[in-house]
Amino acid sequence: MASPSLVWFRDDLRLADNPALRAAIDRGEPILAVYVLDEESAGIRPLGGAARWWLHHSLVSLRTRVEERGGRLVLRRGPAERVVRELAADAGAGAVFWNRRYGGPERDIDAALKSALRADGVEVSSFAASLLHEPWTVTTGSGTHFSVFSPFWRACLALPAPRAPLPEPREIDGGAVVPASDDLADWDLLPTRPDWAGGLRGTWEPGEPAARRRLRSFLTDDLTSYDRARDEPSAGATSLLSPRLRWGEISPFTVWHEAVGTERGAGFLSELGWREFAWHTLYHFPDLATRNLRREFDAFPWPRLQPSRLRAWQRGETGVPLVDAGMRELWHTGYMHNRVRMVVASFLVKNLLIDWRRGEEWFWDTLVDADGANNPFNWQWVAGSGADAAPYFRIFNPELQAKKFDPQNLYISAWASDAPHTPIVDLAETRRAALAAYDAVKRAPRTTDAGR
Ligand code: FAD
Repeated sequence: MASPSLVWFRDDLRLADNPALRAAIDRGEPILAVYVLDEESAGIRPLGGAARWWLHHSLVSLRTRVEERGGRLVLRRGPAERVVRELAADAGAGAVFWNRRYGGPERDIDAALKSALRADGVEVSSFAASLLHEPWTVTTGSGTHFSVFSPFWRACLALPAPRAPLPEPREIDGGAVVPASDDLADWDLLPTRPDWAGGLRGTWEPGEPAARRRLRSFLTDDLTSYDRARDEPSAGATSLLSPRLRWGEISPFTVWHEAVGTERGAGFLSELGWREFAWHTLYHFPDLATRNLRREFDAFPWPRLQPSRLRAWQRGETGVPLVDAGMRELWHTGYMHNRVRMVVASFLVKNLLIDWRRGEEWFWDTLVDADGANNPFNWQWVAGSGADAAPYFRIFNPELQAKKFDPQNLYISAWASDAPHTPIVDLAETRRAALAAYDAVKRAPRTTDAGR
């Protein structure tokens, strides 16, 4: 009797360069491909609305691709440790394969499941697939983690080159008996009342084939202007690969190998380096989304939250054109250009004096690329409380940023031509108030984990 190989898909919704799938196929038994929607396990952060929308469509694409090759994708909902163990037992699986995750709660689940499956007599194998270098393999000379980007990235570049990507399987033997699957529609991942996803539908096509096409067209058409124009939000010079990498529709190994041979790839690849650094940081500080990495920021005297100000920021009604344009782009498309992300984040934290965690939560809910490491890492970077962060006293002036990076007003007029032009706060005055508040941090003792 066949003893199927269970492949547990997680943030790796692809067939190409999927080492867990490859190893399962090489085992020579039928494949039981599974995705589990886990909103229940301890510590798991529930997905935001835009991420749920993306997940729905990416799963539709993955399911189609698995079926085209002869397999089936089984969808189940519940605490992953229990669900995967039960599925493996019911199907008589002889082996379970997955690609590794690096968040704290996710690692706990995977470790517990691995022990339980092994106790059940099931082989378990896990693989590196979503980072070029696993977090614990990049260490300083004294064997510790990095807290500054440049030496981190130098150390990555000095390691053996990332492995070549694996080809996509042509056939997936789904076996004769396939366990029942949930109906994806029953997961309610898509918004209905109201259906706010029109802008997302008009902007994106989730799934592996579209991710591959985007990488190709970026490398062919946009890479040459990347270093020059990547900071201009209206230039369309960046790769737009962030949701693809977030959901694993394309692997960083594929991106690396296709870009590394190109003449002007180094600047672009170092952005992949920031992604690696964010995950390196999260691996060592699993509570990155909720706790200041530099603990002296715990002394920051956040004033009482004024909900109307937070709402004005969320809705793009601050009266500051670049901020409003960015927040409207985000609401409409589930995406915002990196330069503008920095400006809106700085405005929230340093002009509205609202705790970075409120901004991080809003991005988590509205970004299609909402990423467990990149999002909190970058919020803490802007707030000044993070690893290798922008100093708190460097406060972006959104008007100067607009002049510099949107000199012809193209981005602002595309997103916020009708927005009010009277700022809800005085930029100079709030800047002074932020600097005064920051004095409390300066006086606090520098007992920080990240300062090592
Ligand atoms: P490109 O310039 O083409 O870069 C290529 C890839 O490198 C990106 O797809 C991304 O995976 C990675 N990358 C680029 N910049 C960064 C960075 N600063 N940190 C980490 N990785 C980076 N990125 C996310 O993927 N998810 C998030 O939730 C997220 N939240 C952010 C929040 C704030 C406040 C800020 C300032 C930045 C955030 N970023 C986040 C980082 C960055 O803005 C996006 O990755 C980038 O804008 C995506 O566009 P792109 O794919 O065209 O980037």
